[in-house]
Amino acid sequence: MQPQPVADSIVCVECGAKAHLLTRFPPDDPPRPGDVVAYVCEDCGHRFDIVHDDVDELEEPGFDW
Ligand SMILES: [Zn+2]
Repeated sequence: MQPQPVADSIVCVECGAKAHLLTRFPPDDPPRPGDVVAYVCEDCGHRFDIVHDDVDELEEPGFDW
């Protein structure tokens, strides 16, 4: 399996603003499939923990009520 680059930002599903990558990965040590990549929305502050395998498909985030 080819390692996929991690997106710097994604679209927040809560408010539609930009959610930025919380953790930086060095180019020579990218996250592997199965690793959790965290994003935080710049607008509403919602955090998304996404399992890195197919970042194109945003999974339904777990909510803490
Ligand atoms: Zn948001």
